[in-house]
Amino acid sequence: MKNKPKETNFDRDKLLRDVERNDQVWDMLVIGGGATGLGVALDASSRGLRTLLFEQSDFAKGTSSRSTKLAHGGVRYLAQGNIKLVFEALYERGLMLKNAPHLVSSIPFIMPSYRWWEKYFYGIGLKIYDRMAQKFRLGKTSLLGRTAVLDRIKNINARKLNGGVQYYDGQFDDARLAINLAQTSIEQGGVLLNYMKVTELLKDAQGKLNGVVVKDLERGSHFRVHAKIIINATGVFVDDILRMDNPGADTLLKVSQGVHLVLPNDFLGSDRALMIPSTSDGRVLFAVPWHGHVLVGTTDTPLDRHQLEPKPLKEEITFILETLTSYLQRVPTEKDVLSVFVGLRPLVIPEKQVKRTKEISRDHKLKVNGSQLITITGGKWTTYRKMAEDTVDQAIQIGGLAGSACRTESLKIHGYCESKADRGNWGFYGSDARAIETLKKDNPDLDRPMHPDFPFTPVEVIWAVRHEMARTVDDVLARRLRILFLNARAAMELAPFVAQVMAMELDRDKKWEDRQVEDFCAIARNYLVDQGTDAPQQGERTRKPRAMENSGSKTKI
Ligand SMILES: Cc1cc2nc3c(=O)[nH]c(=O)nc-3n(C[C@H](O)[C@H](O)[C@H](O)COP(=O)(O)OP(=O)(O)OC[C@H]3O[C@@H](n4cnc5c(N)ncnc54)[C@H](O)[C@@H]3O)c2cc1C
Repeated sequence: MKNKPKETNFDRDKLLRDVERNDQVWDMLVIGGGATGLGVALDASSRGLRTLLFEQSDFAKGTSSRSTKLAHGGVRYLAQGNIKLVFEALYERGLMLKNAPHLVSSIPFIMPSYRWWEKYFYGIGLKIYDRMAQKFRLGKTSLLGRTAVLDRIKNINARKLNGGVQYYDGQFDDARLAINLAQTSIEQGGVLLNYMKVTELLKDAQGKLNGVVVKDLERGSHFRVHAKIIINATGVFVDDILRMDNPGADTLLKVSQGVHLVLPNDFLGSDRALMIPSTSDGRVLFAVPWHGHVLVGTTDTPLDRHQLEPKPLKEEITFILETLTSYLQRVPTEKDVLSVFVGLRPLVIPEKQVKRTKEISRDHKLKVNGSQLITITGGKWTTYRKMAEDTVDQAIQIGGLAGSACRTESLKIHGYCESKADRGNWGFYGSDARAIETLKKDNPDLDRPMHPDFPFTPVEVIWAVRHEMARTVDDVLARRLRILFLNARAAMELAPFVAQVMAMELDRDKKWEDRQVEDFCAIARNYLVDQGTDAPQQGERTRKPRAMENSGSKTKI
């Protein structure tokens, strides 16, 4: 491989060495590398605060890679009368589009109407929604006749269809934005590390927090780090950290699970999204084109436990497929599902009792403990920037930190690039695409797709390791290239080859490679709907990806 740099600025080993060597007191230590924690780290570092972030797994491994990928105000929250949240989220949607145009875009949504009054009723609400975006309005909401809807969504169920409404909203790639936020924060002077689990909070004689004990999950070693302010941004895990601070702490969150199914794009037959305004359980369901596939979701199932790899319930899959039968002409079955992914919502338990989790507000919550632990949770991906601004303002105030005013409203995110052309595969590399292309030109033998269904080559795997802090096969296939979320079987087929490329880059042995493949396949099996039937089992060989067919040996990479 030509052009191998010694170190990049997103190099985990180098950043970790700096943290271990330097026993400085950080201004702010953020626990959790999802949208919320990354937003806080970016806000703090860009204000000149010495900022450190620890993520126990990979960046966005939790909820932040498992969203519906909508940068939106939330049509549903408008119906619930939460005007403030909708205004705030529409404004933030506009900023996301302005500062990360390589990852966030506007797409038309069609809401089909099967009863004469529906398009007028919802049309009024959607016109209000679009006006509320003010200067960040994405496009004009319009009422459509039957033919216009049939033209726009080829597989829509035509029976009794009498038209629809078209409105505009934002769409993005959640895990890619997370990686770019981390990169931007590092460029602003922050230090962010994945696979670092905070296991203990440290306090001074007055009971104020002054540091943490953290475990490096790669090496198994523990060490202490000191900071003036600690931020708990751990999503559905915030109660675990709150109990580290105070074992008797009340529970802050209610967790609810949301499932998405990924189908081949011809089940929509459109580059527009479909919005189903009211499912049988009174929710909104979306079918959204995403990276050449269609993503359908979501559900809202209350849970009593939380974990990093939540599993779908059979009834959630059935619910989504059954809902689609009323809206699509050719209806998908379980066999058509390429991937199923699940996310857990951190919902702040309201003071007033509610019957169902869908009624819990999506507003964010900032909580300050007597120990000065600051917890930030709830909210939405779309509002991550505002959540971060509020958190850092609070931290500066209680910690007496010397941070400047918030800068993130106009701070361009890593990869920023306006031109749509030339952004690399799926348009998500933005300004990095040029460097990836150069790497391909210098290594033409590596410039061929690894799998017949996906455009990525081994060069993108190498890029992910060198410049995007990918440490495991799951990091690459789930959150850097998104293949696990699009087609779980293809991802399993690719795992051995990706492990081989990564082992060379990271200087790991065959045992590491084998364990990576095994671990990844154990995760990926949960993304297959038919996992009990013909899914590849542990140890079973999957189809060899194209790039391995002729050049499987290590020396050729
Ligand atoms: C199904 C679903 C669909 C959604 N769709 C949308 C949408 O379309 N648009 C939108 O705007 N919002 C959406 N949301 C909401 C949005 O995804 C979440 O609000 C957001 O991702 C939460 O981010 P977070 O950083 O708070 O949590 P997480 O992403 O879960 O991050 C918390 C991180 O903390 C880490 N952590 C935990 N404990 C420790 C520890 N001890 N040490 C170190 N690290 C630790 C975890 O590993 C995890 O990575 C959706 C949510 C769900 C569930």
